Amino acid sequence: MKQDVQNQPVKKGNPYMGFLGVILIVLILNGLVFPKLTGQQIISTDYGTFIEKVDSGIVKEVMIKSNQIFFTAQENGGKTKTFQTGEVNDPQLVDRLLKADSPNPDGKIAFNQIIPEENSPILNFLLMWILPGLIFYIIWHQTRKTIQSRMGAGGNFMSFGDSGAKIYADADIKTTFADVAGQEEAKDTLKEIVDFLHNPKKYTEIGASLPKGALLVGPPGTGKTLIARAVAGEAKVPFFAISGSEFVQMFVGMGAAKVRDLFKQATEKAPCIIFIDEIDAIGKKRDGAFAGNDEREQTLNQLLTEMDGFDGRKGVVILAATNRPESLDKALLRPGRFDRRIQMDLPDLEGRKAILNVHLKKVKHDSIDLDIVARATAGSSGAELANIVNEAALRAVRMGRTLVTTSDLEESVETVIAGAQRKGKVLSAGEKKIVAYHEIGHALVAAMQSHSAPVHKITIIPRTSGALGYTMQVDSGEQVLQSKEDLFNRIATLTGGRAAEEIVCNTVTTGASNDIEQATRLARAMVTRYGMSGKYDMMGLETVNNAYLGGDTSLTCSTDTAADIDQEVLRMIKEAHDKARKIISENMEIMHEAAAFLMEKETITGQEFMDIIHRCTVKADKNS
Ligand code: ADP
Ligand code: MG
Ligand code: ZN
Repeated sequence: MKQDVQNQPVKKGNPYMGFLGVILIVLILNGLVFPKLTGQQIISTDYGTFIEKVDSGIVKEVMIKSNQIFFTAQENGGKTKTFQTGEVNDPQLVDRLLKADSPNPDGKIAFNQIIPEENSPILNFLLMWILPGLIFYIIWHQTRKTIQSRMGAGGNFMSFGDSGAKIYADADIKTTFADVAGQEEAKDTLKEIVDFLHNPKKYTEIGASLPKGALLVGPPGTGKTLIARAVAGEAKVPFFAISGSEFVQMFVGMGAAKVRDLFKQATEKAPCIIFIDEIDAIGKKRDGAFAGNDEREQTLNQLLTEMDGFDGRKGVVILAATNRPESLDKALLRPGRFDRRIQMDLPDLEGRKAILNVHLKKVKHDSIDLDIVARATAGSSGAELANIVNEAALRAVRMGRTLVTTSDLEESVETVIAGAQRKGKVLSAGEKKIVAYHEIGHALVAAMQSHSAPVHKITIIPRTSGALGYTMQVDSGEQVLQSKEDLFNRIATLTGGRAAEEIVCNTVTTGASNDIEQATRLARAMVTRYGMSGKYDMMGLETVNNAYLGGDTSLTCSTDTAADIDQEVLRMIKEAHDKARKIISENMEIMHEAAAFLMEKETITGQEFMDIIHRCTVKADKNS
């Protein structure tokens, strides 16, 4: 079949092609000067041979050019060859040529002299001035482009005034509020903004102007970026998304220029949404310690100016997201700038169910017991839940199934919490026994205390996270407040593993390291932040720095008190540990039976564990 050449896409010109074109033109112009000679093999000879050939009557054509003579000769009636020789000042040459014979039809040598032609002034001008300029421009342009692409999209090189930033508005966003599960309060606030973008008249007629900016605040993975896109998708307006770190540039002043550009472009496209993700990258507090003309500070100042400068009634809404609100400059948060603060919290039980539902819509699944999965994922963010659903789907494929089941989800919860199962890791019989008793120790202490979440599952299958086994406790409901008893029992449960090692195996192992960490953190928080030690009443001894990112703390008390806090923490942990030891030594029969079961099956469900406890207590009652 013939290809339709005309329909082929036209390639966009590359600047180098223009450069090549110039070179080609020069070559062709030069070629015109020797039209007949180009492309032939030329043999060099001396002047004597030339005269000899002329005299012997075999020369057909002679061409004299400045100080060279080109001639063609037909030797022995054969092929015509082209020769070249230097010119000698020979006044008789013309006479000789006129007299000589030639194989030409008229018997005469054809000859002429080429007078070196002066280039036209225009051509001269082009070659002397325009061409070098052009070449320099091309080289500069190309270098600039390379440097820009190395520095990232917004990079800039030797350009003054504008930042050259290409911030593209995304005009066709498919995300809607339906994709964001839970977060009802956030959605309510944002719906008002969407409504404003749809019909600003309703608001301007009464004289109201909407908040210029709204700040989305919350831990990572709670859907801040997602909900911002959903606002744009619902409002069907252009969406300028940019990350705070993109403003912080290599060259001083570029960040500020970029902010200026962004607002200029946005005002032209109004109504629209500007979304600055991770705004803490530029919005950090300007503090005295690093005072100076720092790039970030300039960018922030520009942002503040732009936010003041534009007309709120035009329909440019600025959304920003951060998980470190406490680090933001106060000036950003004052009314007229980011005056609305939208809290995006970790989802509660209902929220988790809704999020799981949204993501389960994307995979083929069996009927799923959402309640179990949602309860097992307390404290997980939306991003983690999305990940859990995806892991479950991957597991279903691995198992050769076409539908995701509840057990896939349960297993992937464990994978996300504790890492994947480590099939290759083999424990010795002795180690396995210790791990089994350790885990049963946790479970038993948890089960024997009233203020404690029921045991859901115990396993001693090693995980890639390094855990050799774990005990999973799942709350039946959602607890917002935690009492002193709850927390103390939790510490006791954490010490249960070590207590079992001590009592049953007569040893202590490194397996308790994570328990120790958690128990200490909890006990410390009880003493320093929750006022639960009795000794310090309601005195705060610690502040949390990054509530949404790990929550590291710093002490706010004197060093004497700090030493005393340690004593208090130790006392509390010791008390809990004693309680755990007591529970275990009073229930040795349950310990042995459950551990034997666990060693054999490697996994024991909460129900099976409770059955064992029940059986043993009934037996004990009969005996007494
Ligand atoms: P953030 O910006 O708050 O760190 P993202 O918006 O980037 O979090 O969320 C990451 C992913 O987690 C989203 O793409 C989405 O798949 C999932 N997710 C988070 N929160 C929700 C939610 N409320 N509903 C549905 N999916 C969510
Ligand atoms: Mg984000
Ligand atoms: Zn443990």
